[in-house]
Amino acid sequence: MRFKIWLICILLSVTYLGLTFAGKTTPKIGIIGGGIGGASVAYFIHELLPNARVDIFEKTGLLGGRLNVSMILGNGYETGGSIIHPKNKYAVDLANKFGLEPRSPTGEALSITKDGEFIFNTSKWTIITIIKTLARYGLNFNYLEATISGFIEKFSRIYDFQKDGKTFRTTEEMLEAMDPMLLNLTKYEFKGILQEQGLSENFIEEMIQAITFVNYGQDLSIHSFVGSVAAAGAASSLWSVNKGNKQIPEKLAEDSKAKVHLNTGVTEIQRLSDGTFLLFNGKRELGVFDHIVLAIPLDASEKLTFTGFTSPPYDYPASRKYHRTVATLVAGWTNDKYKFRSSIISCVPNWYNSISLIHPTILLVAEKYPVYKIFSPKPLTEKQLDSIFEERHHVEVHDWLAYPEYNAIPPKIPNFILAPRLFYLNAIEWAASAMEMSLISGKNIALLIAQEQNEI
Ligand SMILES: Cc1cc2nc3c(=O)[nH]c(=O)nc-3n(C[C@H](O)[C@H](O)[C@H](O)COP(=O)(O)OP(=O)(O)OC[C@H]3O[C@@H](n4cnc5c(N)ncnc54)[C@H](O)[C@@H]3O)c2cc1C
Repeated sequence: MRFKIWLICILLSVTYLGLTFAGKTTPKIGIIGGGIGGASVAYFIHELLPNARVDIFEKTGLLGGRLNVSMILGNGYETGGSIIHPKNKYAVDLANKFGLEPRSPTGEALSITKDGEFIFNTSKWTIITIIKTLARYGLNFNYLEATISGFIEKFSRIYDFQKDGKTFRTTEEMLEAMDPMLLNLTKYEFKGILQEQGLSENFIEEMIQAITFVNYGQDLSIHSFVGSVAAAGAASSLWSVNKGNKQIPEKLAEDSKAKVHLNTGVTEIQRLSDGTFLLFNGKRELGVFDHIVLAIPLDASEKLTFTGFTSPPYDYPASRKYHRTVATLVAGWTNDKYKFRSSIISCVPNWYNSISLIHPTILLVAEKYPVYKIFSPKPLTEKQLDSIFEERHHVEVHDWLAYPEYNAIPPKIPNFILAPRLFYLNAIEWAASAMEMSLISGKNIALLIAQEQNEI
């Protein structure tokens, strides 16, 4: 009998110790969304809390989200996020770590159109392009470049903060820490800031507005932080990952050792009385977690149901909308008007934002026809396609809710922490949507969770 009591005592204390151990060092973390953002949280958590148990729930059959490659006539082409800036430290370091090869755009001829007419064309001869640019825009490019390099320098401070384990509860706090000027940029229309800098009207309305249309499908009324990110995207030495940018989220998830649940959308998050969360897919229970990370653009996804919370953690305001950008990929021959032009960008609102000759990121067979990617605010009609192409051999449409609608003064940016232990990665997109922004937000959320676990 005495032996039995001892055994029970030992078993109880082992169970207690096990629970304490589980509570302290094996938190269960549920990540909703398997894009680059969600996958990065899993990766950074694994670095900071190697014993954490991490599950990623992705509603489609693929990781990558807005990073995707489409196979057309035997070769693969980027359909979503495609360009990475050379100063994007996380993307650069991760690509190196995973042995992913960078690939550079081929720097082909650029044209700007206004109301369908070509108003500026570069040449295949660099010297002629320089002369034409100076003649039309003077030294404006140099002034813009100087401003953008100052912006990038301030922005890059985030990497040192995160290296030191600094965390942020809101995007505003994060931008202010980089430099109060960066936070200020989110409050002013881009056009006004460019005018204040003394850039010429034609440069602003032609060149810079073409840049905001091709990068964010929106005009110069966007706020100046995202405008500056767009302008940085016009730099040289941009790159992408050979064989597809979506390899970054795939490798992040693989390296993190997280359990990935594909074809598993989360429809409901229930807060339980002990502060943990039960996730549902319809009526199916997906498990109980200590921390939840929402790595989905809430304003662009089907509404999640939140139950058991004292107040709703997210209010879905009608003022926060995502911008529709349709990517139409066409393999075929353009007609005379568009021949010999490989990147045509409209600098005014138009039925297309850009028409670009693209090259396969996965090259398996010789290209039989050139492939073009057209970005437009709405799906293209047959008549519009006929006006560009004399022959079409393959047409594919990707209709994206691509990035937020960046009004000059954006609605309040949602917090990274929506409720205790419920985190929102895509809040950062209201400052700017880009792969690197999701990686930075992923690192911030991993640090916040590790901090709660007292590991840093
Ligand atoms: C056309 C286009 C061009 C772009 N160009 C560039 C560019 O050149 N450079 C750049 O840096 N960025 C670019 N971007 C932006 C960039 O792609 C995004 O900022 C980035 O990929 C966002 O990643 P994310 O993981 O945060 O979100 P997402 O990629 O949207 O990932 C969210 C994931 O969550 C899943 N999901 C949604 N709801 C649920 C649910 N309820 N349950 C489970 N899973 C769910 C989705 O299926 C998706 O896989 C572009 C985007 C588009 C659309």
